[in-house]
Order: sequence, then C-alpha cells, then structure tokens
Amino acid sequence: MADRSCMLTKRKEKEAAEATKNAKEAKSEAEKAVDDGEAPSAEAAAVNGAVASGQNGEVQVEPMELPPFEIISGDRIDPFVYKFQFKNVEYSSGRNKTFLCYLVDKGNTPDGLLRGYLEDEHSGTHAEEAFFTQCLPHIDPALKYTITWYVSSSPCSACAAKIAEELKAKKNIKLSIFAARLFEWEEEEIQIGLKALHAAGCKLRAMKPLDFSYTWDTFVESDDQPLNLWEDCKENYEYYHEKLSDILQ
Ligand SMILES: [Zn+2]
Repeated sequence: MADRSCMLTKRKEKEAAEATKNAKEAKSEAEKAVDDGEAPSAEAAAVNGAVASGQNGEVQVEPMELPPFEIISGDRIDPFVYKFQFKNVEYSSGRNKTFLCYLVDKGNTPDGLLRGYLEDEHSGTHAEEAFFTQCLPHIDPALKYTITWYVSSSPCSACAAKIAEELKAKKNIKLSIFAARLFEWEEEEIQIGLKALHAAGCKLRAMKPLDFSYTWDTFVESDDQPLNLWEDCKENYEYYHEKLSDILQ
C-alpha cells in the first residue's frame, strides 16, 4: 500500500514539474516552487484532474491514469513523502492530502498499543474520519484510550465537528492532535471547529521541531538516518503556535 502511494506521489510531482525528465530534479523543483508560492499549484491541477500544460504550453486534457482512491493505511511513510507532506510551510499549496500518524494506548491489554498512519485525498473520506472507522471501529467502554495523532494539517471544520462529537459521546477516549500546519486557519468555520475540539477536551498543538524528529523516527522508513530539519522549521512552528493560541484563547 505504501509503495503505491509513494509511486503515485512521485508521479504527480513529476507531472507538476511538467517537462523535466530527471525525476529527482523534478521533485525538488516542484517543492521549491510551491514553497516559495511562486507558482500556482501545478501539482494540484494534475491531481484533480486533469488539466495540465504540456511542454509546448498548450493546455492538454489528460485522462485520469488511476481511479481516485480514498484511504491508504500503512506502517511507515516513505521519507521523501514525509518531508514534503509534513513540512510546516506557511502555505500548503500542492499538499492536498492529510497524513495522519497515530498512536493508540489501550492500557494493559494484549493489543495495548497501536501505531500506523493513514493518508487521504480530500476528495474522499478524510483521514480523521477514517481513523475512527478503520483503526478503531469498536470502542470498548471498559477500556481507556489514549490517542495521539500527528497530522500534516489540522482538521477541516466537518472533521473537527465529527471528532468533537466522538469525544463527547465516548468519555473513555482522550485525544491529542499535533499538527504540522493549520489548515485554512483564517476561515471562521475552521476556527469554530478548532474551538469545538478544544472544548470537547481534545489537546491541540502545533508540531514542534522535536515532534518532527520524533515522528520521523517513529513513522517513517528512515533507515536510521536522522531527520535534517528544514531551515525555518522552528519559525514556522512559532507562527502556527501563535495562530492556534489566538484561536483557542
Ligand atoms: Zn476533514
């Protein structure tokens, strides 16, 4: 499953770079372009369907190569995919997915600890909702669940509302969400969703530099290579931390 996602992501980024034959070069260029906010998201266009500029500058309509998929789950994330998807840039253009790494502690039970990740396409079921249907379909009222999510971006308003309902209905679940980026935090309905989560007892925080190192070690096929944090990781964390504090105050 992870291989498929990796392959897909690489394909998309290759498309995003339009004409570059060298896939590695294409990857870094696409990332740089979207990070710098210089280019409209060619990747998003490629992902969503289907209109992309050809080498000769003409707009071409390309058929979808693969049917849209909804949720991918797995054990460890491809390192390149992690570095792109979790990078805490201020604007997330091109990153139209959510990656959700989870740890579940069910206490002193034979299967007491769960670890893994989910990824979605925003066109389908979101990873947050899929977590409850796929990873924890049965909540045992006799157990206490301590759940930690590391997400590439914070929940949309619909997911926030659903999670808040889940937490209110099931008092034996404690959820902490650590987000690399805040998703559309300027939007009022997003802020309402985050406040509802907070009010329902969910711990919400922006991912600190240490959280990126921790998730790298825990959820990525890192081959024991340490994560080299990107230059502005700490500044970006502080930016999101401040925005989140303002929203939740
Ligand atoms: Zn959502």
